Amino acid sequence: MRIYNLGSINWDHCYRVEHFVRPGETLMSSAYALHLGGKGANQSVAAAKAGGQVIHIGCVASADSALSKLQELGVETGGIYQQDQHATGHALIQIDDEGENAIILHAGANRALQQDWIASQLQSAEKQDWLLMQNETNLLHESATLARQKGMQVAFNPAPMDRDLTLNLLDKLDLLIVNQIEAQDLTGASDLDTAIERMQQQAPDLALLITLGAKGACYCQGNQRHSVNAFKVDAVDTTAAGDTFIGYFLASLTAGLAVPDALPRASAAAALAVTRAGAIPSIPSRQEVDDFLARQP
Ligand code: ADP
Repeated sequence: MRIYNLGSINWDHCYRVEHFVRPGETLMSSAYALHLGGKGANQSVAAAKAGGQVIHIGCVASADSALSKLQELGVETGGIYQQDQHATGHALIQIDDEGENAIILHAGANRALQQDWIASQLQSAEKQDWLLMQNETNLLHESATLARQKGMQVAFNPAPMDRDLTLNLLDKLDLLIVNQIEAQDLTGASDLDTAIERMQQQAPDLALLITLGAKGACYCQGNQRHSVNAFKVDAVDTTAAGDTFIGYFLASLTAGLAVPDALPRASAAAALAVTRAGAIPSIPSRQEVDDFLARQP
């Protein structure tokens, strides 16, 4: 089983500044760092590090170095379209002395995907392969429809949340992955049980994976429910915790693990990720996850 991840690729340009730039001002930054990111790329890397076969479907500017970087991290990049009309997705991130940030996000090529390209990339997909998507690219509905026609399984992580878009997609999905805030935004429920109940009324066959931060995660399908605790770690930076969880969970399913075995692996990977700074650099290897699990009492 393979994972076709239709997802964003971003370059995050991070600038350390004394204060956020004001109208008309030119501000010197005291430090600069460039990181590969985007929820799509993060999830592809996590699934690849987990041992999954991941084909990323996306769009960047011609000859962008994101391609070689993703390849180094184990992601298949033949599904990433290169073009010259749109810049690769990127964010300009100002970080001030208090650690607050101010961000300009340009979706660029991430929202310039063409249906023919996606269809041609899914040609090699087989029944039961997964199509994974987040809400940072265009053509979600069309891609989910096509995947379903091919007998693929479709997983969607609606981040950033768009309630109407997500509700309209539900009947094309096998697995919906949300964090607690997204679950509540989607259903208007103020607590988790009500959110699950409302989702299940709306889409009885849909499997739900809800991540709950330091409280772990739960998976519900019909009257089946599996929960996993978060591992106790010293959290440093929770960036990409959810992406790590999703990549590891899906890759574990494709490796043949059942849900109750996939959940603790994903929880362990996400726990390791929160002990480290950054997004992609914080995602642990399979070996690190195995060692971490072996150390648990
Ligand atoms: P998102 O990053 O999408 O907001 P969550 O905050 O729910 O998602 O985190 C995803 C997963 O990361 C959780 O289900 C949990 O396994 C793990 N996690 C998050 N925060 C912590 C923490 N403080 N300690 C241990 N694990 C954590």
